[in-house]
Amino acid sequence: MMNSYLNYIGGRWTEAKNGMKHEHFNPANPSECLGLTEESSAEEVEEAVKHAKQAFFQWKQLSPVERGDILRKAADLLEQQVQEIAEIATKEMGKRLIETKGEVLRGAMILRYYAQEGMRKMGELLPSMNPQNTLYSLRVPLGAVSVITPWNFPVAIPMWKIAPALVYGNTVVWKPAQETGITAIKLAEVFEKAGLPEGVLNLVNGRGVIVGNALVEHQDTVAVTFTGSNQVGREIALKAVARNKKFQLELGGKNPVVVLEDADLDLAAKLTIEGTMKQTGQRCTATSRVYVVQSIYDSFMEKLLDKVKQIKVGDGLDETVDMGPLASNKQFETVSSYIAKGTEEGAELLYGGKRLEGPNYFGGYFIEPTIFGNVTNEMTITREEIFGPVLAVIKVVDYSEGLAKANDTIYGLSASLFTTSLDKAFHFIKHSEVGMVQINGETGGAEPQAPFGGMKESSSGTREQGQAAVEFFTSYKTVAITSSM
Ligand code: NAP
Ligand code: MG
Repeated sequence: MMNSYLNYIGGRWTEAKNGMKHEHFNPANPSECLGLTEESSAEEVEEAVKHAKQAFFQWKQLSPVERGDILRKAADLLEQQVQEIAEIATKEMGKRLIETKGEVLRGAMILRYYAQEGMRKMGELLPSMNPQNTLYSLRVPLGAVSVITPWNFPVAIPMWKIAPALVYGNTVVWKPAQETGITAIKLAEVFEKAGLPEGVLNLVNGRGVIVGNALVEHQDTVAVTFTGSNQVGREIALKAVARNKKFQLELGGKNPVVVLEDADLDLAAKLTIEGTMKQTGQRCTATSRVYVVQSIYDSFMEKLLDKVKQIKVGDGLDETVDMGPLASNKQFETVSSYIAKGTEEGAELLYGGKRLEGPNYFGGYFIEPTIFGNVTNEMTITREEIFGPVLAVIKVVDYSEGLAKANDTIYGLSASLFTTSLDKAFHFIKHSEVGMVQINGETGGAEPQAPFGGMKESSSGTREQGQAAVEFFTSYKTVAITSSM
C-alpha cells in the first residue's frame, strides 16, 4: 500500500475535494514511487486562508515568549527526526544525505534563532513636538501570510520564512514545491507535535499555477514571501502590486568567482569546484562562472580539472558519492539543453557534459560535472541561470577586467574573490554588485543570523534571515498618548 499524505488545514489532515493526487518519484531511481500528496485546487486555498485568518486573532495575542517556546519545541523534534526527514528529502530531490541532514539541522538552528528573536525590542520611544504626548512606534504582525517555496532547500527555506512569520505573530498558508511535498508534510507534523494551535500553519500541496496563484490572488492573504525562479517571481510581484499586498522575492543567481595571481590556487580551485557542484549545482548561490587572470590560468586549470575528476556521481543515499542526481527529468532536460548550447556557441567542453547511464544508475537523472573553457561573456551559458553542475571558465587580463565581467549580468546574488591583497579585497567588497560577498570563500553559504538576499534581478530588494526578517513580517503602528496633566 502506497503512503498517501494529506493537506494540513485548520489543524486537521484532510483530502483535496477534487480527489486528485500527485505521485512522487525518486530522481536517483525514477521507478521508485515514494508516495502520494494532494493535488489541491483553489477550494483548499479558500479553506486554509479562512483558518489562517481566524487563528490570527488568538495567535497575535500570545506573548513572543509563548510563540518562541513552540518554535523551540519544534526545533527539538526536528533534530530528533533528522535521519527520517533527511532520507525523505534525499529521495524526493536527490541531494546527498550528508547535505539533507545538514539542512534539517540548519532548520532547527533557524527555529531556535527566531524563538529568541521575538524577545527583541518591537518599537521605539520617540520625542514629540507636544510635551503632553508619549509618542512611540510598535511593530505589529501583518495577518495571514502566503509562503511559496522551491524544492532545492526543502527544509531550510520554508523554515527561514515560517519561523519569523510565526514568531512575530502572523499565521501562514504554505505551498511548497510539488517535488518536495512529502518533506513538507513532515515539517507540518513537527509543528503540530510542537503544539502549534490549529490554523496557525496550514499546508496546501498542489501545483504552483493553481494553489500558488490562488494564494497570491486571495484578498485575505496580506503578504506573500516567495523563493523561486525569476519568471514566476515577476508574475507574483505584478499580482501583489495590483492588490496592494506586501511581497518578498528571492530569485535566481549567476554567481561569479574571480581568481587573482596572488591567490591560494589550491583553495580557489577546491572552493570553485565545491561552489559549482554541491547539490548538483542546484543552489541559487552556486558558482557558475569563474574569471581567472591569464598569468595563473594554466596552473589554476590544472588544479581545477584535477579536483573535478575526483567527483563520484551516484545515489545521494550512498555515502561514498560526492554528487547526487538532478532533481527531476525537467531539470535534466534544462541542464542538458544548456550544455548543448555551450558547445553550439563555440565554448570548449573541457570535462563532463554527458548523462551517466547503465546498470549502476537505474535510469536516474545523473549528469557528469561539467566544465567549459574558451567561454565569453556573450554566450548563453554565462548569461542565463543553468541550475546544474556546469561551470564556465573565462580568462581575463587582470582584476579590473575580472570585476567588470563578473558584474556584467542581470543577477546580483553572491560573488567571491580569491586574493591575498587587502586592497583588492576591499575594492571588490565595495564594487561587486551583489547582496553577498565572499573573500577567499565559496559563493554559497548562509548563516541564520545574517541577512540573505540579492541585488539587481536576484531579489525584490528585501532580505531574509537574521533581524532583517522583522522588516518584512511586521508593520509599524505609530502611537501617541496625550495626557492632560
Ligand atoms: P519555481 O518554478 O519558480 O517554483 C517555486 C515555487 O513557486 C514552487 O512552489 C512552484 O510550484 C511555485 N509556483 C510556480 N508557478 C507559480 C505561480 N504561477 N504562482 C504562484 N506560485 C507558483 O522555481 P523552482 O524551479 O522550484 O526553483 C528553482 C529556482 O529558485 C531557481 O531559479 C533558483 O535560483 C531559485 N532559488 C532562489 C533562491 C534564493 O534565495 N534567491 C533559493 C533557492 C532557489 P510548483 O513547482 O510545485 O508547481
Ligand atoms: Mg516547479
